[in-house]
Amino acid sequence: MIIKPKTRGFICTTAHPEGCAQNVQEQIDYVRKQGLIKGPKKVLVVGASTGYGLASRIVAAFGAGADTIGVFFEKSASDNRTATAGWYNTAAFEKKANEAGIYSKSINGDAFSDKIKEETIELIKRDLGKVDLVVYSLASPRRIHPVTGESFNSVLKPIGKDFTNKTVNFHNGEVSEITIEPANEDEINQTVAVMGGEDWDMWMQALQNAGVLADGVTTVAYSYIGPEITHAVYREGTIGRAKDHLEATAKTIVDNLKDIGGRAFVSVNKALVTQSSSAIPVVPLYISLLYKVMKENGTHEGCIEQMYRLFADRLYTDSLELDEVGRIRVDDLEMKGDVQEEVAVLWNKVSSENINAISDIEGYREDFFKLFGFGFANIDYNEDVDVNVGISGIE
Ligand code: NAD
Repeated sequence: MIIKPKTRGFICTTAHPEGCAQNVQEQIDYVRKQGLIKGPKKVLVVGASTGYGLASRIVAAFGAGADTIGVFFEKSASDNRTATAGWYNTAAFEKKANEAGIYSKSINGDAFSDKIKEETIELIKRDLGKVDLVVYSLASPRRIHPVTGESFNSVLKPIGKDFTNKTVNFHNGEVSEITIEPANEDEINQTVAVMGGEDWDMWMQALQNAGVLADGVTTVAYSYIGPEITHAVYREGTIGRAKDHLEATAKTIVDNLKDIGGRAFVSVNKALVTQSSSAIPVVPLYISLLYKVMKENGTHEGCIEQMYRLFADRLYTDSLELDEVGRIRVDDLEMKGDVQEEVAVLWNKVSSENINAISDIEGYREDFFKLFGFGFANIDYNEDVDVNVGISGIE
């Protein structure tokens, strides 16, 4: 099939297997150029196929030589449809891990379900015995509760009052004003049920009860804070409530892991283009301005640089510094005063007329299409490619 990008709003419904493989390869190459990390040895990554979870898996495997099991929810190719990007990413990751002699297996299915937790535990018992790191990097718009069967949907809305601000259609660079109505109590609760910490805690309890957590196990989940401009729709909105819950859950998990001396952290990461973040209103415009400022001052990072730093300079050092409420911060460069001041100045000025000049909307678009394997210079997108790519280690 000749595969071109087909977009619908903020999603791309096609993915290119060779481009996704290139995306994974570039991340592996980056990690290989850095020093080896005295890090984890047996790792479970929940949400391992794209974004921060994929980068975590690559750092664990290629930066620390760890065996990895990845859990995700992706689709293989069918008839005239390509597989999803996360499917192709994982196929490429597993191929490279196998070639390097690094154990890697994957489980595709709903991580919120008991069934997938049980399958994962069986696989750990069979192949790894125990894991010493659990990365929880799920981003999902919905969750079916495994006990009650209730279906929850998350929403990206402010709380308490309307929020009006600038936003961009990153495909055509049109800047407009958006007003988002506040969420009601039910929407807040549903968002917390999907993106809060309950499922992370359920994973950790299931793993602990099954005896597959090593003594001194570490677990980490990801959060975001961001600047004033996005607070109403992010940190003080529905998703922020979910993140508050996730952060509080880290403390519950530490308590539960006391007997085996386990550690549980939330790491606050940088705003980056991923399939999930492109769905959030206002955020893509902020990211376009942030990229401009951070690229100009040489501090720009992508998922892989962020996750390398998380492992090498935070999680696996003797001097792990936490913020005042106990979180790991790798959003330090994004949140620097001078960076935020510059972004705020640009924010006030930005319009459809000047967006190409004063923001890195082009870089945003490039990153967005790269998520789906498009826009790599060395790939001929007019060539026919086989969309049916298998994942060697899928269980
Ligand atoms: P992403 O969309 O790239 O990845 C989500 C992962 O979750 C994928 O592997 C997907 O397959 C998996 N997934 C979704 N639903 C699933 C289900 N039901 N069962 C199994 N797997 C499922 O997202 P991301 O941006 O990398 O987000 C990961 C975490 O990082 C989230 O907690 C997010 O809030 C956080 N974070 C993101 C940013 C950002 O700017 N992107 C910044 C800071 C923190």
